Amino acid sequence: MMDHSLTIGAMMERAENFFPKKEVISQTHDKIHRLTYKEIGKRTRSLMSALDKLGIQRGDRVGTLAWNTHRHLEIYFAAPGMGAVLHTINIRLSPEHIIYIINHAEDKIIFVDEDIFPLINQLHEHFTTVKTFVVMTDKDTLPETTLTNVYSYEDLIRDGDETYEFLEDIDERDPAGMCYTSATTGKPKGVMYTHRSIALHSYALGLADSAAVSESDVAMPVVPQFHVNAWGIPFACTWFGSTQVMPGPRFTPERLARFIEEYKVTITAGVPTIWLGLLKEIETNNYDLASLRGVLCGGSAAPIGMIRAFEQKHHIPFFHAYGATETTPLATFSRLKSYQADLSMDEKIQERTRQGILAPGLEMKVVDENGDIPWDNETMGELLLRGPWIANEYYNDDRTEKSFVNGWFHTGDVVTVDEEGTIKIIDRTSDLIKSGGEWISSVELENVLMAHEAVFEACVVAIPDEKWQERPIACVVLHDGYDGKVTKEELLDFLKPQFANFWIPDDVIFVEEIPKSSVGKFLKRELRKIVLTFMEQ
Ligand code: AMP
Repeated sequence: MMDHSLTIGAMMERAENFFPKKEVISQTHDKIHRLTYKEIGKRTRSLMSALDKLGIQRGDRVGTLAWNTHRHLEIYFAAPGMGAVLHTINIRLSPEHIIYIINHAEDKIIFVDEDIFPLINQLHEHFTTVKTFVVMTDKDTLPETTLTNVYSYEDLIRDGDETYEFLEDIDERDPAGMCYTSATTGKPKGVMYTHRSIALHSYALGLADSAAVSESDVAMPVVPQFHVNAWGIPFACTWFGSTQVMPGPRFTPERLARFIEEYKVTITAGVPTIWLGLLKEIETNNYDLASLRGVLCGGSAAPIGMIRAFEQKHHIPFFHAYGATETTPLATFSRLKSYQADLSMDEKIQERTRQGILAPGLEMKVVDENGDIPWDNETMGELLLRGPWIANEYYNDDRTEKSFVNGWFHTGDVVTVDEEGTIKIIDRTSDLIKSGGEWISSVELENVLMAHEAVFEACVVAIPDEKWQERPIACVVLHDGYDGKVTKEELLDFLKPQFANFWIPDDVIFVEEIPKSSVGKFLKRELRKIVLTFMEQ
């Protein structure tokens, strides 16, 4: 057989050649754009020529701080298409983490949506490698700035060469993309994807027993393009010629419901918080959502009530999937097996709360301190994964050794497995808090709280939250003599300058002591119980 590389440029070429009339519908700040793959292809090529002219070379990192739009999609193909590396940056991280990520990845150029540009004005002095900024806007003028190296995206496209060729001699193992994921302690960790891993992962999204993405789909990725490449959906959909609907900046549940109805969206994907919002919207207002053949949900465990509402009340098939930044991300997908057809409705819904079985091409092990656990639906162990779209290291990071051991990625997720091989995520081995699909590090909050002069000990735990899945609550032991001298508000104000808004705990509870384990670590499980009892009172 030919040793032929799977490349991201070839994915776009396929869309140009075989689906020139199919469309990408994209909401930007000012309007809806409808562009065919023929047009998107030309714009992508123009963008590659612009990157070339701006001095971007093979292997250089191309950063994006952007919402889900057609422009972001074009960068998805232009950067790797000319040999550079697409680096999508999570706009919701704290300024400190955004600076860290940009410098650690050594981004050379940053593409930024107009409403996020003020952040660049604020932070650019801290960037060590960025030479150029490109603003994505529908307007003829650029936002105000003292920076001189700022270009307009649409000017670059207009002045570019729409016949520019995708680089031919790319090896499929060359880097194509990067995402950072937040860690329990310390800085975010980077994962580098290759052309090969993204292509194979796209195939996996197309399999009939997973998301079954195909040409006939109208796909709306609600999951941000900066969260594991919108779970790879833009790559797969372009390759397969599906229509794509990009919901754009600061979307609301109303916009999502309206887009599903108007553009006859067949498949959409996002974290549980998004679907809780959509559910509320469709239960308040009338929409025709009959086109939907699947709502894909991942990133956090999907609550059973929500699955039941989608499936039973609204007759919308609901698919639970599991993965991580390190797994590109699709690792498991939940579908009933053919012989499970006669399960009762309740049993089927129960089944859908599980995260499903492993995608073909991947391998898993679930281990505890005694080795492989039995698949008895009771014994818990850590999920280990390997396969062609599973990372084998963190980018330039000492923490690699801890998570990648003997060829297996240690997910940090504790699961049970039933006799069907279906996994259920029980908890993290660590105690990260997941709010609205984003991570919050309890340890970082604790460390800062404990830097306050009145605070002796601080421990932050997650409590379940209907809207956000989880929210942080801080428990604080005050130093002697500070009783009644410091308020909750003062402590929260102390945190605010150092963290993104959504990191700030919902409450501070003053306690006498924090339960600890035999080696002096906070016993978070115990504390969580105390907090829940306290909150019930
Ligand atoms: P991230 O790298 O931000 O995508 O986060 C990955 C982590 O999210 C996983 O290691 C899990 O802890 C969690 N996660 C992802 N999908 C699910 C799911 N379907 N159910 C429960 N937890 C999930």
